[in-house]
Amino acid sequence: MADPEESTAIKVMCRFRPLNRSEQARGDKYIPRFSGEDCVQIAGKPYYFDGVFQSNTTQEQFYNAAAQKIVRDVLEGYNGTIFAYGQTSSGKTHTMEVSYFEIYLDKIRDLLDVSKTNLSVKEDKNRVPYVKGCTERFVCSPEEVLDAIDEGKNNRIVAVTNMNEHSSRSHSIFLINIKQENAQTEQKLTGKLYLVDLAGSEKVGKTGAEGTVLDEAKMINKSLSSLGNVISALAEGTAYVPYRDSKMTRILQDSLGGNCRTTMVICCSPSEFNEAETRSTLLFGQRAK
Ligand code: ADP
Ligand code: MG
Repeated sequence: MADPEESTAIKVMCRFRPLNRSEQARGDKYIPRFSGEDCVQIAGKPYYFDGVFQSNTTQEQFYNAAAQKIVRDVLEGYNGTIFAYGQTSSGKTHTMEVSYFEIYLDKIRDLLDVSKTNLSVKEDKNRVPYVKGCTERFVCSPEEVLDAIDEGKNNRIVAVTNMNEHSSRSHSIFLINIKQENAQTEQKLTGKLYLVDLAGSEKVGKTGAEGTVLDEAKMINKSLSSLGNVISALAEGTAYVPYRDSKMTRILQDSLGGNCRTTMVICCSPSEFNEAETRSTLLFGQRAK
């Protein structure tokens, strides 16, 4: 049985990628110092999480330690959300392996049907929010899930010219709805899991940004800060949780907090060059504790 204490807590996992080639070529210093399995220090300041994963962690090790439990709970009928948060190029997409709809400039685009470019959020009769008209694909096997993911990824690439730049400025959300029925008892079990690959959290330079770039920056800051507010309200147990402040938190409302399973993966670059962003990423993660 699931431990009720555990169910409300938001788990925060922190993962550092290795230095990449250009960082190595530049001779960047590798700045994190790891102590134990739950602490990382940057310039002597410690940051604590439910788990800290060093640069040599494999995908399988990370999945087993950080995601397997939530996936099992969803198969048992709970709702859950896994987020990846961090600056561009910190390893968010690498960690989620999936990239379907996306939110860009607060518009929701269907990645399984590119003709649907501005979907709206509605509530069903039980007041559960959902994306109206979003394509649902019936899948029976893990292979079919992966096919749907591939299709979404291709649509994402087709729709934009600069994949990397675009993905750093949009949130991508993959929803897996699980319905199981026991043939003998006719007992039905439903659960859903959201996988959220967030827009890059880096601060956009205050000067020089204008037009679309500025609109994007404002929208990203707004939606990431409203996510931060929701998560810290949940962590503190305050009565009012500001779900309605952004489209993303509205959509995720019934899969965040309460009896849901939530894991935030904080992705970081180990390079001295990114120290300021890494510190602010680690602080964002600590708001959830
Ligand atoms: P983001 O989605 O945060 O912008 P990516 O996931 O695209 O960043 O990662 C940037 C690059 O770093 C990719 O080439 C990716 O393969 C590599 N990378 C990220 N995390 C790791 C890791 N833990 N181990 C090895 N390579 C990684
Ligand atoms: Mg990415």
